[in-house]
Amino acid sequence: MTAPKTDNTAIDLQKVSRLLVASFVPSIASSVNDTIADVSEKIRKNPALLEDDAIEKEIKAAILLRIALDKESVKEMVESIDGVLDKLSLRLIDMIESSDNSNAEIQAIKKELESYTEESSVNFKIAHKKLFTIAVALEENTQLLSKNLKGHNEDVEALSKKVKKLEAELEETKKESKEDFLTKLYNKRALDEFMELKEAEYQRYERNYAIVMLDIDHFKEVNDTFGHEAGDAVLSAFAKILKKEARSVDIVGRFGGEEFLALLSDTDTHGGVTFAKKVLKHVEKSRFMYKGNRIKVTVSAGVSERKKHISLQATISSADEYLYIAKKNGRNRVEYKK
Ligand code: GH3
Ligand code: MG
Ligand code: MG
Repeated sequence: MTAPKTDNTAIDLQKVSRLLVASFVPSIASSVNDTIADVSEKIRKNPALLEDDAIEKEIKAAILLRIALDKESVKEMVESIDGVLDKLSLRLIDMIESSDNSNAEIQAIKKELESYTEESSVNFKIAHKKLFTIAVALEENTQLLSKNLKGHNEDVEALSKKVKKLEAELEETKKESKEDFLTKLYNKRALDEFMELKEAEYQRYERNYAIVMLDIDHFKEVNDTFGHEAGDAVLSAFAKILKKEARSVDIVGRFGGEEFLALLSDTDTHGGVTFAKKVLKHVEKSRFMYKGNRIKVTVSAGVSERKKHISLQATISSADEYLYIAKKNGRNRVEYKK
């Protein structure tokens, strides 16, 4: 390629060389490499070299290098954004799973991420910077979330400890309780304690006492016919009668199920029978009503006194035996050692 050398061509060559050198500069990569720098320098210093065939090869090589540099840069940026996006999406999934979707910050982050996919012409550096900002925001959000969760855990732990303590206290109170929850009479535990006390008095002062065992007749039928609630109502009503017939010094309680016990101080069999008969009469003439139904209720009783037995236990067993006899003899009656 040889052409006559005029002033115009010299000017043109200078222009072309400037343009050429400028085109060697990568548009994406941040720097040129040595080979490009050398060719650029050569041409800038001596534009006339462009007339030389030998330079053509070098120019082609420089352009290829420039393209390669740009490609490499794009690849690196895409990879780095890919990495950030991968981490972001994992974090986002974690957060969405561990918090409710209404979390405003997460919603904002999601929106921002969506807008990136819309802006395809986004500048990589700006995009990278923005994504990094989002990653930081997510990081902070996650930390806040786990801190909150930790706080809640502590609350839950404290509450469950409290519940356990209350349960234990309730259990203790139940143990200490002497009242039957349904009838509000003394329960078995209380009756046992009172009997021990009466027994001690008997042994020290020979103070006699009578034990009356009472059991509602055919109570199972009451439950079966009118339901368990009706049965409970009968138990409560009977307890009131028992309480009413007892003197203030007498002790009456629920021995278990539909069985009741009266512990009568300074009382013999005869006194015990009188008490039992009063109760039976009272029950017989009472109208037990439940939801418009009249329930017929009768009671059987067995009586015994301490002086006629060798121990408290023997006295209880005897009252129980006579109660059994009362059942056998037709119910609604009082039996005792005649
Ligand atoms: P008997 O005349 O021989 O005493 O017959 P019974 O049906 O009264 O005696 P049984 O021992 O066969 O049945 C007692 C019934 O009392 C069975 C049981 O379910 C019921 N019962 C025990 N405790 C309660 C209670 O707290 N509420 C109610 N509704 N029923 C109870
Ligand atoms: Mg019964
Ligand atoms: Mg019974």
